[in-house]
Amino acid sequence: MGKTYKIAVFPGDGIGKEIVPQALRVLNAVAFKHNINIKTADALIGGSAIDEFGMPLPEDSLNLALNSDAVLLGAVGGPKWEGLDYSVRPERALLGLREKLRLYGNLRPVKLFSALADASSLKREVIDGIDIMVIRELTGGIYFGKPRGIEKTDGQEKGINTEVYTTSEIERIARLAFEVARGRRKNVCSVDKANVLESSELWRRIVSNVHKEYKDVELTHMYVDNCSMQLIRYPKQFDVILTTNMFGDILSDEAAMLTGSIGMLPSASIGGDVAMYEPIHGSAPDIAGQDKANPIATILSVGMMFKYSFKLDGACSVIDTAVTRVLEKGYRTPDIWSAGQKLTGTREMTDLILNEIE
Ligand code: NAD
Repeated sequence: MGKTYKIAVFPGDGIGKEIVPQALRVLNAVAFKHNINIKTADALIGGSAIDEFGMPLPEDSLNLALNSDAVLLGAVGGPKWEGLDYSVRPERALLGLREKLRLYGNLRPVKLFSALADASSLKREVIDGIDIMVIRELTGGIYFGKPRGIEKTDGQEKGINTEVYTTSEIERIARLAFEVARGRRKNVCSVDKANVLESSELWRRIVSNVHKEYKDVELTHMYVDNCSMQLIRYPKQFDVILTTNMFGDILSDEAAMLTGSIGMLPSASIGGDVAMYEPIHGSAPDIAGQDKANPIATILSVGMMFKYSFKLDGACSVIDTAVTRVLEKGYRTPDIWSAGQKLTGTREMTDLILNEIE
């Protein structure tokens, strides 16, 4: 009997509670097919945990994550908890997990399923064939830098945030990007704002230094404003995009729209011993509880878990192929539906994917 992989499951809030159980059906089917032993255990985080325990990331949930081989997460947040102080909002659970699991790198593959080219707001010839990996630094930069806060000064208020990066933080994310690029088309574009920001000047210098160890990979640098324009103008030029926490947050959402819907994009957060897999979208309160959510981003996140945490590339490919086939047959959840296509709900979309796997 081989290793048993322990997976901590956090459905979270809103559509997280619908898409995660569907993704687990796919996880179990692929594990069964490939003789992989899986043990899952779920716990509350986010708003659901606030309602039950008064905090977004209870210690038991955190310990479950720390003692697992990987984490599968849905999404957190919703209007019910929006009035709470930032320190106890549902989103703190994500920041807490990233910090405690030391997840400094976020991988977001932006790959177009050809069948969906018409769901994008861009022309087919611009986006057909795009396959980009956005690598975002996740535990540094302006989202964590100090000083921060809102101060009263000279009769008015002053809001402060600080962009900070150290050599070691830049080195480790740059190494991750070059390693990932080696398994792809060997091209890294590092995105910064080195013409204005000193932290970006350092970023560019350190990335270039690390590049000396990866001469087989091509490195280019691009300013973030230009990159946001190039992503729309000619996205096929990109292989791996390496960037900071805030620039990555913004650029990866922009890149997401190239593929038609935020409901299609998975992500992996890696760095420590336990990696975390989640769709890039939020809890979508506007469609929660209506069987309308697209489960594909979460299902593809399970594929990334097989690939990056368990090194089972074959299991990941099975999922990618099943999703491709279902889309080619014309099945669509509402977010990617257009006239002439077959409309499905969350559960039915998963049933169809499972049919292709089994
Ligand atoms: P959102 O991603 O939840 O939704 C944006 C839009 O995309 C909505 O119209 C929604 O219906 C649609 N959408 C999202 N996922 C979809 C899916 N799988 N299928 C079909 N349509 C989908 O972003 P938002 O509305 O800005 O935020 C809602 C809540 O989610 C907020 O509380 C926010 O803080 C939280 N949030 C959580 C995460 C996370 O848990 N990682 C990320 C972003 C936002």
